[in-house]
Amino acid sequence: MDNYKIIWKGNDNTNKSTRRGHAPKVIVDHITEGSAKSTINWFTSSGNTVSSAHFLVTKSGEIYQFVKIEDNAWANGINSYNRKYSTASIVKEMGVNPNWYSVSIEHEGIHRMTQGKLTDKQLAATIWLHQYIIDYVKRKWDVNIPLDRKHILGHYEIDPRRKPNCPGEKYPFNQIIQALNNKNTLTDIKGHWAEQDINEVVLQGIMSGYPNGEFKPDEKVSRAELATVIARLLKKEV
Ligand SMILES: [Zn+2]
Repeated sequence: MDNYKIIWKGNDNTNKSTRRGHAPKVIVDHITEGSAKSTINWFTSSGNTVSSAHFLVTKSGEIYQFVKIEDNAWANGINSYNRKYSTASIVKEMGVNPNWYSVSIEHEGIHRMTQGKLTDKQLAATIWLHQYIIDYVKRKWDVNIPLDRKHILGHYEIDPRRKPNCPGEKYPFNQIIQALNNKNTLTDIKGHWAEQDINEVVLQGIMSGYPNGEFKPDEKVSRAELATVIARLLKKEV
């Protein structure tokens, strides 16, 4: 992967607070609904007392940072009333403010024009940034953020009532997860007759690979593992 430089932009006005002891568990993707310039102005303005994000990826593939990963950005706040409508299973499992356990990435774009589709440079930069965050969280907290749609989320899944278009229906979640997966895991499924299905269940968070990167496609499944898979399927909103 290319090398990127993260440019620090946060200032004293940037909204942030503590994670209250929580480690990051998910990455949440957003769309700015404005230019990169206006987003940088907004996230550093004394007039903004409501929102922030950790990162911004511009259309030309630059990466800006406003809030340290150690801190809580104000990107995914939701009250208990709206939390009931969340389609992200982790929001219900955790039951606390999603900002405490998330890292947020804004993507420059306007939904009515792009529906969340990224430029090629933006896509490459955000894939790199997702990996950077995953590595950072692993180093700092010894926490693995799994490469699946349960842990790489859109804002719309956390807050469907208020943010149905963030980051947009064309945001390339699967392409990002696929790129990260290809780099990281599943070293033993290439050419297997079930390769596509295996990728799909891993992408959807129904099954996962072993920590050493193998999936062991021909291994037997225990009753306990089968129960876990069925429980995940039952919990899934389809
Ligand atoms: Zn958002």
